[in-house]
Amino acid sequence: ETNTSTNFIENIIDEDNAKGTYGGKVYTRFPPEPNGYLHIGHAKSICLNFSIAQKYGGKCNLRYDDTNPVKEDPEYVKAIEEDVKWLGFQWEKRCWASDYFDQMYEAALELIRKGKAYVDDQSADQIRETRGTLTEPGVESPFRSRTVEENLQLFEEMKDGKYGNGEKVLRAKIDMSSPNINMRDPVIYRIEHSTHHNTGDAWCVYPMYDFAHPIEDAIEGITHSICTLEFEDHRPLYNWVLQEVGFWPNPPKQIEFARLNVTNTMTSKRKLRKLVEDGVVDGWDDPRMPTISGIRRRGYTPESIRKFCSEIGVAKSNSLVDQGMLEHCVRSDLQNKVESRNVIENPIKCVITNYPQDCQEMVEVENNRNVPEMGTRQIPFSNEIYIDGADFMEVPVKKYFRLFPGNEVRVKGAYFMTCNEVVKNEDGSIRELRCTIDPATKGGDSPDGRKVKGTIHFVDAKTAVKIRVRNYDNLMLQDENGEFSVNPASISEEICYAEPSLGEAKPGERFQFFRHGYYIADTKLTTDTEKVFNRIVGLKSSWKP
Ligand code: ATP
Ligand code: MG
Ligand code: MG
Repeated sequence: ETNTSTNFIENIIDEDNAKGTYGGKVYTRFPPEPNGYLHIGHAKSICLNFSIAQKYGGKCNLRYDDTNPVKEDPEYVKAIEEDVKWLGFQWEKRCWASDYFDQMYEAALELIRKGKAYVDDQSADQIRETRGTLTEPGVESPFRSRTVEENLQLFEEMKDGKYGNGEKVLRAKIDMSSPNINMRDPVIYRIEHSTHHNTGDAWCVYPMYDFAHPIEDAIEGITHSICTLEFEDHRPLYNWVLQEVGFWPNPPKQIEFARLNVTNTMTSKRKLRKLVEDGVVDGWDDPRMPTISGIRRRGYTPESIRKFCSEIGVAKSNSLVDQGMLEHCVRSDLQNKVESRNVIENPIKCVITNYPQDCQEMVEVENNRNVPEMGTRQIPFSNEIYIDGADFMEVPVKKYFRLFPGNEVRVKGAYFMTCNEVVKNEDGSIRELRCTIDPATKGGDSPDGRKVKGTIHFVDAKTAVKIRVRNYDNLMLQDENGEFSVNPASISEEICYAEPSLGEAKPGERFQFFRHGYYIADTKLTTDTEKVFNRIVGLKSSWKP
């Protein structure tokens, strides 16, 4: 799983290390806003930040970006930490951006003292309207030339609660005609009379992201601040803040990479929250959700997610990754790890007329056909077995080698079996098949060397256990413009018959259902008496690595 190829971020780090910029240290951070559950896009950022730190013997912080005085939900914080740990990472420190409010305020005062920030009385609308466009410079605020003393006093009054929301803001004094609109005197503090989950009512002025983030990084001694591409145009402001505040001699550097987008997958906390709130899904960890908790409950392994994140690499331009790649990663992780079990879908009963009625024997089957060391197990066989609906055709199509009247197949682990008669119900549906076995073929080979083309699997009808199997399709459908709509057929459940051992399956246990795919016993719905399985992924893929 070690990715030995270097990416452009590592090239930057290598250069820094060669020059000794940070004394050879690498310190990254993962900075979620605790306003929802993490999704597969965040997994990319987590894997990137933590594995870069690991690769260079450095450190990585988990930092809650809680500079908005929104009500932070402890449920989200708990979920975020569970997700990071599940992915296999451990943070150096757990930090809260709001713990730095004093230092951020100090930094703002420093800018004011240097004549690099001013209090503006214009409304948000006025500020937006005077920002200019890509082709036209902005218009300077009439309050731009306030004196340092006046600004210090007004900012203190803002902090002391003398003004209402939106009455005044603090702006960086940079350049209203900069070609980069982010540099046209951006707002760095706003008034917001709300209670903050951490600092309570201590503050009614809150720093804006572009001002707060570089300071958070600098305070923690972050060396390389990795973020997504939409912040590329903000980088000059990131650098400006650190340089003009000047408290940190060796400021961190921002590096942007492309957001992860996966086909048919919605990666936006806000939109995912709406699905939860509207009851479209059964919570954030619904197995169809692209949240890390949903993916976990669906049955994906942390190894498969790390592999996925490492294989897709780090890009400098926005890209769309095929969801088949994610499925490929979990399939190839599970194929050598989990044991197989016989499970029958759309069962058809076969009555074996030349097998003793009251007899039951055990037959041997492999636990994992790729990995002989995983051994074998014994499963019951008797004169009544179930086979998959898909393994029988009354009138076979061309090249159909499974069971049909008059044909002989191998029943894996047991005997060669021939179908002699189809018994119907009154409505014409199949009631059962009457079959015979060849007792000389026990174990699945014929002493006379005759070959059969089809191999099918079975469960013993007398000892079979019923399980609930949930199959999933995409939660969201995407049209040609990339617009999402809810797939009305994203989940289907069926009752299947399984070999007896699945009656003992524990929540979270994974299996290959022989010839069907990979499944996990649902961690919430599986009980001692009822087994509910989620299909993780099918066996075959149309997607080629
Ligand atoms: P969302 O729009 O889903 O809320 P966000 O970027 O606002 O995403 P944050 O909690 O601020 O969510 O993100 C924490 C970190 O995860 C940030 O560094 C962000 O850049 C990164 N991140 C979020 N989405 C993706 C993605 N799709 N691909 C890569 N990194 C991502
Ligand atoms: Mg964000
Ligand atoms: Mg967001």
